[in-house]
Amino acid sequence: MTKRILIVGGGYVGMYTALRLQRALGRDEARITVIDADSYMTYQPFLPEAAAGNLEPRHVIVPLRRVLRRCRVINGWVTRIDTASRTVDFEPRPGEARRIGYDLLVVAVGSISRTLPIPGLAECGIGFKTVEEAIHLRNQVLAQLDLAASTDDQAARRRALTFAFVGAGYAGVEAIAELEDMARDACRYFPAIERSDMSWYLIEATGRILPEVGPEMGRWTLEQLRARGIDVRLGTRLNSAENGHVELDDGTSFDTATLVWTAGVKPHPVVGSGDLPLDEKGRVRATAELTVEGHENVFCAGDSAAVPDLTRPGEFCAPNAQHAVRQAKVLAGNVVATLRGRPLVPYRHAYAGSVASLGLHKGVAQIYGRKLRGPLAWFVHRTYHLSRIPTFNRKVRVLVDWTLALFFPREIAALGALSDPRREFEYAARGRSS
Ligand SMILES: Cc1cc2nc3c(=O)[nH]c(=O)nc-3n(C[C@H](O)[C@H](O)[C@H](O)COP(=O)(O)OP(=O)(O)OC[C@H]3O[C@@H](n4cnc5c(N)ncnc54)[C@H](O)[C@@H]3O)c2cc1C
Repeated sequence: MTKRILIVGGGYVGMYTALRLQRALGRDEARITVIDADSYMTYQPFLPEAAAGNLEPRHVIVPLRRVLRRCRVINGWVTRIDTASRTVDFEPRPGEARRIGYDLLVVAVGSISRTLPIPGLAECGIGFKTVEEAIHLRNQVLAQLDLAASTDDQAARRRALTFAFVGAGYAGVEAIAELEDMARDACRYFPAIERSDMSWYLIEATGRILPEVGPEMGRWTLEQLRARGIDVRLGTRLNSAENGHVELDDGTSFDTATLVWTAGVKPHPVVGSGDLPLDEKGRVRATAELTVEGHENVFCAGDSAAVPDLTRPGEFCAPNAQHAVRQAKVLAGNVVATLRGRPLVPYRHAYAGSVASLGLHKGVAQIYGRKLRGPLAWFVHRTYHLSRIPTFNRKVRVLVDWTLALFFPREIAALGALSDPRREFEYAARGRSS
């Protein structure tokens, strides 16, 4: 009988699993459905470059329907996962809430920003996990340069030229490094703005930055950022951000129109909406074979799962793309094995290290213990991610973007109206009726 495989989440784990399953399984063996709120997978390691204008945002996402030709893709927001009744509830956008059944389930909903109840944060802050946030940030930074160059109000100018990022893991470090690089570049076209007029803050609660590349390269990155004029505050917390007035626990305060929260992630809360077993961090409890504990027909992996790290007994795999892609491969193999009554294979991968981009021609990396810095690390970062981004189509587009960026300066126009595209038309329509 044809089995119904349901994959919840079409990100790293979901999309790579579906890609493998559609290749491995015959049409009469299984019907594969993927549900995701979006119609595309986001290649998150390229978000900082998309925010900085080195890559076209549409080129860092992969349209699910184009690559998953043999799967059914449903766009909807999953609200409940119930293993007892083998059903998943979701809300199509727009549309009535619906329920879908499954024989085998893959839970791959990833993570969301881990925030704290800091006054003003929810109103003034923005995360850095989606392509929409990357587009917004690029427009936001350029719009603030426009504003600063167009006002005589010194307080408004100072506020516009102050940018604050909270959290110095790879998302925060890459985002601030790329955006500062872009803003510095853009200053050439703003005679009224010097680089020294801008204030860039990176606020980190612990005593180090970029732990992903190890202590030595983390220290080197810190020196590089500080040498570029980025004010990195270690051992410092954000106390409040009401109305854009930032107060830090070291006594510093300033006004800003740009507050970016990159202080880590937590499992997507939808995994707690039903009866999945969770650990104390809210992750789905996984076995080494990537099944959910106590459920032979439910699989999970990626940021939302607590997958035992067999290379470090007693620990769990970190939430990163390196594990997500490899877990998807093992997970897909185990789904096929389950369908065909074969034994499952455990997931085992020793963390290979990380690469991070710090702006054009700048980077840092630690791979298999080898430490790289500067243009070489940047080149490795680009080569690695180019080899990883799915589909030949995306690879070519990314390569073309980079090549064009070698010969032409970046675009510096802020498309502020993107967040309010009807403004102009409403003005025209109101004018006519009055
Ligand atoms: C800026 C940034 C840079 C990064 N750089 C690196 C890097 O250099 N190296 C590295 O190893 N890792 C990096 N990562 C981490 C990496 O991207 C994640 O670990 C990886 O995406 C996790 O894969 P996943 O499949 O678990 O989740 P995701 O890829 O996030 O996929 C989850 C999917 O589930 C969908 N979804 C969530 N909730 C619902 C719902 N309720 N209903 C329907 N759909 C839902 C989402 O739309 C999404 O498509 C970076 C992350 C960020 C944010």
